[in-house]
Amino acid sequence: MTDFARTKSLFHLPEGIVYLDGNSLGPLPLAARDRVARLLDEEWGEMLIRGWNEAGWMDAPARIGERIGRLIGAAPGTVVMGDTLSIKLYQALAAALDLRPGRRVVLSDHGNFPSDIHMAKGLMRSIGRGHELRLVAPEAVADALDENVAALMLTEVDYRTGRLHDMAGLTQAAHAAGALTVWDLAHSAGALPIDLESAGADFAVGCTYKFLNGGPGAPAFIYVASRHIERVQPALSGWLGHEAPFAFDLDYRPGPGIARMRVGTPTILGLAALDAALDAWDGVSIEDVRARSVELSEMFIGEVERRCPAFELVSPRCANERGSQVTLRFADGYPFMQALIERGVIGDFRPPDMMRFGIAPLYLDSGDIVRAAGVMEDVLGERSWDRPQYRQVKAVT
Ligand SMILES: *Cc1c(COP(=O)(O)O)cnc(C)c1O
Repeated sequence: MTDFARTKSLFHLPEGIVYLDGNSLGPLPLAARDRVARLLDEEWGEMLIRGWNEAGWMDAPARIGERIGRLIGAAPGTVVMGDTLSIKLYQALAAALDLRPGRRVVLSDHGNFPSDIHMAKGLMRSIGRGHELRLVAPEAVADALDENVAALMLTEVDYRTGRLHDMAGLTQAAHAAGALTVWDLAHSAGALPIDLESAGADFAVGCTYKFLNGGPGAPAFIYVASRHIERVQPALSGWLGHEAPFAFDLDYRPGPGIARMRVGTPTILGLAALDAALDAWDGVSIEDVRARSVELSEMFIGEVERRCPAFELVSPRCANERGSQVTLRFADGYPFMQALIERGVIGDFRPPDMMRFGIAPLYLDSGDIVRAAGVMEDVLGERSWDRPQYRQVKAVT
């Protein structure tokens, strides 16, 4: 059984705050602070350029990729770190379309994250071969698969509603229709048990600053199933994905296996923070995390519905259909959330009217849930959210 009191002690949680926004940016793992300080002093500071060899910087994307791979059910040698999620999605989708040259449709759902949709459209425009995006309702995806679909591109957990797709079932349906799958695990990695190999996923991508607590702008990951990797011709053919970067050869030859999905110089500071953040998962069972997430989410929904009847549950009521967040609808959700944050309960807001609350068992317990619901009841009852200063929309919501 995972010791959640121990995992909570591994994070810096500011006094007086209940943090329900780990689905956007996980809190600071104490080990990350020490690891980055050591990197600055002992590695960058003392080793200078020698750090690439002597501190293992050059291998960090592959080594940390293996650590992520164990959390998402990926075989060894199928995951590598780098860049941002938007870029990794572009690479994965480009590779999938290349492997299905006779087909022209990318299928996704209209709950997908805008960046995923924008990157797909930008890619299709660059390819210039008449690809089109087919966007349907999340529950209509399986029926929209046909012989024209090259790639099914989905985010497993909807960033707004928390709705959870059936990865194994949809992957099977996509394959039956002759399509490949690109799964975005932004809101799944570190939140749910994922088994990419047994689901038969073709490509997967994800960020590491949400439920994996890697820090703001932490590097992303990409997975390519081993059956495809040797046939992938990288669309972003940077020198570090080359077979021999330090041969400085002007002819591009993709590197061995997943290494070809690397692009340029890795962000060593970000990788170091992430590496330390992943230590929090040692001795943790993701099944325990899921069970606890469901328990805390049910408790949160129950408390909020009892105390705040003005809010409508947007997330699926059935826990099996939900990721690790609870979304509530309230017409004045933006000012309400600002008032809540001022009272020390931090969630976030997505237009037009959705308040999101991330449930991350590594550092949240039932006391936090009850406290958050109590503050919500107070702010609603006092109407203290109804002040002009809370209506000023900030750049990051
Ligand atoms: C958070 C998130 C992103 C963000 O992409 P970045 O390139 O890391 O900014 C993209 N897609 C989904 C589904 C997300 O949830």
